Amino acid sequence: MEKVKVGIIICNRYHTCGGGKCFRALQNREGAFSIYKDIEVEIGAYTTCGGCPGGNIEYVPAEMKKNGVDVIHFATGMLVGYPPCQNIDYFKRFIEEKYGMKVVLGTHPIPQSYFITHTALGTWKSNHWQEKIAGVLCDEATRLAYN
Ligand code: SF4
Repeated sequence: MEKVKVGIIICNRYHTCGGGKCFRALQNREGAFSIYKDIEVEIGAYTTCGGCPGGNIEYVPAEMKKNGVDVIHFATGMLVGYPPCQNIDYFKRFIEEKYGMKVVLGTHPIPQSYFITHTALGTWKSNHWQEKIAGVLCDEATRLAYN
């Protein structure tokens, strides 16, 4: 069986988060982790961006890489915060360019309460945002399970 080691970077606004939704989603291969259906996955690292404008993004991928992380996931909080992180595209391009590591947007499914509010606000109306949340949008039943 193929094996992958992932690192998770969360938005610092949620720095006290216990990570339960991310770890549950990984265990169940839900949300962005559904890409690992038949792949063994190990968590190699879990940290925050360091706070706006994301100073930890510059250095922490190096430490993750040294410890064998293959793929970095930006936690769903970066997509669903109020507002979502405005730096997310830059962060992804930077890590891929500087460290040659794959970056995946999202971890656990979007909780339904965030889905309702962002839909009302029109946050994700553009094709650009629809692409970004595609991996964690999921169906309503799944979103409700992550409320
Ligand atoms: S909004 Fe972006 S830069 Fe600011 S704390 Fe969250 S992830 Fe970091």
